[in-house]
Amino acid sequence: MDNRHAGIGMTSQRTRLRMVERLRDQGVRDEILLAAMSEIPRHIFVDEALAHRAYEELALPIGFGQTISSPRIVARMLEMARSGRTIGRALEVGTGCGYQAAVLSRLATEVWSVERISQLVMKARLNLRELRIQNVRLKHADGHLGMKESAPFDAIILAAAATHVPEALLEQLAVGGRLVMPMGTRDQFLTLIERTEQSYTQTTLDPVRFVPMVLGAPS
Ligand code: SAH
Repeated sequence: MDNRHAGIGMTSQRTRLRMVERLRDQGVRDEILLAAMSEIPRHIFVDEALAHRAYEELALPIGFGQTISSPRIVARMLEMARSGRTIGRALEVGTGCGYQAAVLSRLATEVWSVERISQLVMKARLNLRELRIQNVRLKHADGHLGMKESAPFDAIILAAAATHVPEALLEQLAVGGRLVMPMGTRDQFLTLIERTEQSYTQTTLDPVRFVPMVLGAPS
């Protein structure tokens, strides 16, 4: 680990472990997820000027009007998607800076992540490369379409809010798979969709606040 990864003071391993303790206090129970979050240096995913705040319970700006989700939200979504299982194939919609994809890379065998803003795809690619993460593949595309060529997915996670589950994502969810997303416009709720043999079940969870999912992927 070089110095930037190791960090000092507010970006040190000790600060990261305090973040994990806080998540545990807030009710996150998945120790494999907590171990992953204690390993991934969140501060390298945000601007240097904000690095000292990377381990606070904050959503921070990552440019292009987008934000990296707060640690508690990342933990909540991934805990819900994992539900104690090892994930085979995972799809993330909304790569942003790549932080959640990096944590997910420790929980799934293979990860695909789709982002509509090409500059963020490049940013995320550099971040993941810096951490030598090799089981995440990024694609510049509109996540509404999912990634048919790599489906079915055992877990699908949306990092942007939509009013309904995109049809393609329902189709690309494996039987027994779990899809977690923020649902709604102004009032949003974390929502879990599970695919059964015959159909889908939907569970509404906590109120949340996410950037909206936007149609199209400008080149
Ligand atoms: N998981 C990210 C959080 C990113 S915020 C992280 O860890 O940093 C949500 C992201 O969803 C933004 O980058 C936004 O550009 C992206 N997004 C919004 N609509 C999208 C769409 N239709 N397809 C793909 N990405 C989308």
